[in-house]
Amino acid sequence: MPTQLSNSVKYLKGVGPQRAAILEERGIVTVADLLSYLPFRYEDRIRFTPIAEIIPGQVHTVFAEVATQGSTVGFRRGRQSIFHISVRDRSGSLHVRFFHGGYLADKLKPGQRMVLHGKVEADPYRAGRFEMVNPHMELTGAAEGAATDSTEIGRIVPIYEALGGVSSRMLRRIIYSILENFDGSIPDALPQDLRERYRFPTRREALMFAHFPPKDEPIELLNSYRSPAHIRLIFEEFFYYQLALAMQKASDRSHRGIAMHVRDDRIRQALKRILPFKPTAAQKRVLSEIVGDLEKPFPMRRLLEGDVGSGKTIVALEASTIVIENGYQVALMAPTEILAAQHYLSARRVFAQAGYGVELIVSGRKRADKSAALDRVASGEAQFVVGTHALIENPVQFKKLGLVIVDEQHRFGVLQRKKLMEKGASPHVLVMTATPIPRTLALTLYGDLDLSVIDELPPGRTPIETNWRDESQLPAVWEFLRREIANGRQAYVVYPVIEESKQELKAAMAEHDRLARDVFPASKVGLLHGRLKNDEKDAVMEEFRGNEIQILVATTVIEVGVDVPNATIMVVEHADRFGLAQLHQLRGRIGRGKDKSYCILVAPKNITGEGRERIEAMVATSNGFEIAERDLKQRGPGEFFGTRQSGDAAFSIAQPLRDHELLELARKEAMLLAENPARATEVIRQLEAVSPSWRKRYQLASVG
Ligand code: ADP
Ligand code: MG
Repeated sequence: MPTQLSNSVKYLKGVGPQRAAILEERGIVTVADLLSYLPFRYEDRIRFTPIAEIIPGQVHTVFAEVATQGSTVGFRRGRQSIFHISVRDRSGSLHVRFFHGGYLADKLKPGQRMVLHGKVEADPYRAGRFEMVNPHMELTGAAEGAATDSTEIGRIVPIYEALGGVSSRMLRRIIYSILENFDGSIPDALPQDLRERYRFPTRREALMFAHFPPKDEPIELLNSYRSPAHIRLIFEEFFYYQLALAMQKASDRSHRGIAMHVRDDRIRQALKRILPFKPTAAQKRVLSEIVGDLEKPFPMRRLLEGDVGSGKTIVALEASTIVIENGYQVALMAPTEILAAQHYLSARRVFAQAGYGVELIVSGRKRADKSAALDRVASGEAQFVVGTHALIENPVQFKKLGLVIVDEQHRFGVLQRKKLMEKGASPHVLVMTATPIPRTLALTLYGDLDLSVIDELPPGRTPIETNWRDESQLPAVWEFLRREIANGRQAYVVYPVIEESKQELKAAMAEHDRLARDVFPASKVGLLHGRLKNDEKDAVMEEFRGNEIQILVATTVIEVGVDVPNATIMVVEHADRFGLAQLHQLRGRIGRGKDKSYCILVAPKNITGEGRERIEAMVATSNGFEIAERDLKQRGPGEFFGTRQSGDAAFSIAQPLRDHELLELARKEAMLLAENPARATEVIRQLEAVSPSWRKRYQLASVG
């Protein structure tokens, strides 16, 4: 029976129930799903490098057989073992080392043939000999003379990421046999005029080509995902995503929103009254963009981007003033209780004269207090309501919600944001982020949001000095803290309790006790971590804000948003254990006032790899955009941008950063198509027929 796209993978040759279960766990249920699972790399196995022609320092693919196993070179079993083999082809022999390779002893018997792919170096232990260390390896036909499969030799071979117990080699065979027996067509939802204009291959051609490329395709194009097939498949993914965003945007625009009065003397007066300082030009510009949205009869969907400390909060409070003066309520959601409490306090201060009702909703408050607070929200007496995700819980009912603000949006899932929006009738939405996403990327990824950027820090800030110290230098660091504290400054000492596990927490507590007792007996040292009760946290923050506590030992609970301008020193212990984005956020807690600030990263001087790169990046620059770009290069977009933008969330082959040109092209075309709703709907209808699950994949990613 011919294979069909909708067939279950269960019935494919070489799969069976066990492997089918593994595949299903990764969302691969049908033949169509499997065909969408593309190789991540290609190997040129048309012509292997004869061992005699190897050039050290280069990556080679070699086809050879095992000559001798490790015992000749001191093979030891056990965890630390290094497994050695010597392999040979007709031209010569090569040494191969595998770390922790003890388990290979049974597989790599003399005579076993295999393909080895990796960098070849001179063997440090024996002059004139070359070696590969931990190469990518694939066993082929069992022994000399046995036939090898046509999928593994003599062609450009696709290498797949193994899925659990299903190896790259198995996947290759399964997919090869699908394509071989496949005689149906693969429907193509990409509009024909696009396909022609860009000379894209059909979807069928593209898939066949991407799995088993023709011999003459340059391997570099394949491995950089720039073959015609890859370009089409990447474009396609972005295109549908952008189309979904464009339709989302159109549908948002079609909702009636609340048109606020903004050009009104009373409102102008109210705005003037709340401003504690002269806004920067960037703050003014961004506010006027927001005002422009608020007065329109459809709901605002705006992303406000600004590096840590750029002053987003006051802009949000100004927007809130307009909304409250129009008789509506505002909800501000923050990712941590500490940040929510801080926003609550600053809103009370800023709105004191105006006399607005300000309320705080967090979980874990006394029942009676909480129900009184909920009543005030429901009656509308509470006009500015700050909270954590507790805000989206059921009992919270607003009377007239006009504006939803989400602070530090990267900490929230899009669904949480949507739930909060549903507490009102088409409220305006402002999401704020300190994640410095390059503008073009932000526009394309958040195609359904409008973008405002605060690209200027408030005046009078001195640049933060960042230094790298190791533990042996800590006495001098503490001495420096003592001097600064004597001058009236305050300091954070951050300890890497990331999971808040018991043991880590104990370490932070012990460090606090030690600092308080032995190092800073003359100062008050506070302790802040996620396991404290709300009122305990509030009390500690209150004391720190009032400079009753001079040194705050904290976990990453202070990472986002905390604003105590008199704190000018940030010591991060075990700094190599933090991510770059996290370090940048932590450093953002200082440099918020006029006094010079110091960030001291404590980590061994001999660390290598990413830990070293991160610390060097922090020392080199305090520009959030530069940091973000480095972080993107190191880890891909997932970490910095949260789940929405992470490659895995919405895309299987496309990568926004690597492929940003295709992303922009796809956006342009999708926007154009969306201008013709009838045609756009038709394309989506076809897409639905081709890929029934597309909506699920993208919808989550397209909620404003
Ligand atoms: P973020 O953008 O990181 O949320 P905040 O809104 O917390 O930054 O502002 C950082 C600090 O800068 C706060 O102490 C705030 O009061 C202060 N600030 C903001 N705007 C100005 C301004 N225009 N002039 C002086 N200080 C400002
Ligand atoms: Mg903030």
